[in-house]
Amino acid sequence: QAKDDGRNNFKFYSPDMNRKALERLKLETFLRVAIVQQQLSVYYQPKVSVLSGKMTGMEALLRWQHPELGFISPAVFIPIAEETGLINEIGDWVLRQSCLQARLWQAQGYDIVPIAVNLSARQLKQDNFAARVVTILREAGLDAHYLVLEITESMLMSTGESGLQILEQLRDDGVRLALDDFGTGYSSLSRLKNLPLDSLKIDQSFVRDIVTDPNDASIVSATAVLAHALNLKVTAEGVETQEQLDFIRMLNCEEYQGYLFSRPIPASEVVKYFLPD
Ligand code: C2E
Ligand code: MG
Ligand code: MG
Ligand code: MG
Repeated sequence: QAKDDGRNNFKFYSPDMNRKALERLKLETFLRVAIVQQQLSVYYQPKVSVLSGKMTGMEALLRWQHPELGFISPAVFIPIAEETGLINEIGDWVLRQSCLQARLWQAQGYDIVPIAVNLSARQLKQDNFAARVVTILREAGLDAHYLVLEITESMLMSTGESGLQILEQLRDDGVRLALDDFGTGYSSLSRLKNLPLDSLKIDQSFVRDIVTDPNDASIVSATAVLAHALNLKVTAEGVETQEQLDFIRMLNCEEYQGYLFSRPIPASEVVKYFLPD
């Protein structure tokens, strides 16, 4: 039982904490099995031009279907993969899978669009990360311009100068960078200015009530002005209704992503959104 009488500093774990720790341990073990048994797959969610309504890109999103537990959300297992270091292996796999899929679509004659893959801080901390990405692209036979890496503000805070150098290297190699979940972390404007970014994704928490909450509307509006001043494209996340879409159009966002156009879907369903070549 938890014990804290002020005289000693140690505490025993409460039964509840114990249960959580056990669940984590179980998930970690399951996740290792999942990698080996190929229970992981990649879904793709279109990014859409606000003006034309056409698909301009897509984001790769990891899916885990466990034979007994069913669908496990990346919001649950990615943090565990990050803590245990499994994210490096999983992250490499998602990158390779996405690049191979894009190359396959291209070989099938589709006019492909850039494909965005989410990164974790831990991946950026591998000092050979830029070289790994280049190798994956080369092995897949995919031009670097078709790859976008999504990074977050908090990632940048934790990886510091060396992380920035890796990102600059990747940018020089032709890979594009997007800043994900913008507005939820802390990034100073000076830092933003120095980043080799192509686009900025406004977090869905600001988009959700954009029509009814003037504060959210102001935040999105100001973010779009800032982004455009820095020559960045703006993508609104989590657009679910026509009213939200009309609103972000008014605020000059170029691109959106959300259930209104499409949920994340398996590769086989993506092809209907490619334009005829
Ligand atoms: P994210 O990168 O910000 O991805 C957007 C999330 O919003 C996805 O959740 C997507 O399914 C969801 N979403 C898209 N449109 C809508 C909408 O209109 N309404 C609502 N309510 N949600 C929408 P998902 O797939 O569950 O992924 C959650 C997070 O897990 C991602 O957030 C990302 O941070 C992480 N993640 C997913 N796949 C990977 C991966 O391969 N590597 C890494 N490092 N992280 C990943
Ligand atoms: Mg993302
Ligand atoms: Mg996002
Ligand atoms: Mg988000």
